[in-house]
Amino acid sequence: MKRSINRLATIVLLLVGCNQPSSSVPTDSNAPKPLSVNQTSSEKVDSFSLDYIIGKFDPTKHPDFIVIEKKYASREGMYMRKDAYDAFLKMKNAAKEDGIDLKILSAARPFDHQKSIWEAKWNGTRKVDGQDLSKTLPDAEKRAYKILTYSSMPGTSRHHWGTDIDLNSLEPDFFKKGKGREIYEWLSTNAGNYGYCQPYSPKGNIRPDGYNEEKWHWSYMPVSENLTQLAKEKLTNEMISGFQGAEAATKIDVVSKYVLGINHECK
Ligand SMILES: [Zn+2]
Repeated sequence: MKRSINRLATIVLLLVGCNQPSSSVPTDSNAPKPLSVNQTSSEKVDSFSLDYIIGKFDPTKHPDFIVIEKKYASREGMYMRKDAYDAFLKMKNAAKEDGIDLKILSAARPFDHQKSIWEAKWNGTRKVDGQDLSKTLPDAEKRAYKILTYSSMPGTSRHHWGTDIDLNSLEPDFFKKGKGREIYEWLSTNAGNYGYCQPYSPKGNIRPDGYNEEKWHWSYMPVSENLTQLAKEKLTNEMISGFQGAEAATKIDVVSKYVLGINHECK
């Protein structure tokens, strides 16, 4: 399975190579090609590899990524894409003028990071709602759905992309009243001016599948819409592999329901 992912990624990289000077062709999956702002939308799609989509690269070594300054974040050492960070800083400054303080709680998370979270929940090392899911939910599909209530399956998280950030609080209740409500209302009105969109909007008729609403999760559209498009064209459930419980990916159709099950305004 892993071999087929690598083979597909290689094909994508080779296709990119046909249109680019050889000096800019990446030599391995840890160094995907930087994105030029002058590229057209379809060229942008082509310039990302499937390894990028599934988070199999190191953000700390990627030329398009930058470390987030501690004063803008809840902790040191988080990374995100530079273009998304520039837009975030503009948005943060504008918010500050309106009395709103935006803080990044989580940014880029590579495949291996997500794998360690997922597997701990899958094998019961980490309890979910006080339960050891390996015992209470032996069925792979049911166990995966339960974990997906809180955590992405490795290879399917938008946090792999460096375009997506969690802001201020991971508690839905925080955004229902007081300062939290003000923050969310400000973001709903203004984030779009800086390229940011809320991919996990309320679930219902318009968005029936995927994660529950996340008022804290914002995505930098000028880049992430291209990654969503690439996922739609090339990513398959079979490519979501290399971790315990990966057999559930196909059973629940994780690509259609979770990767592509986002707010239509963010596509
Ligand atoms: Zn998030």
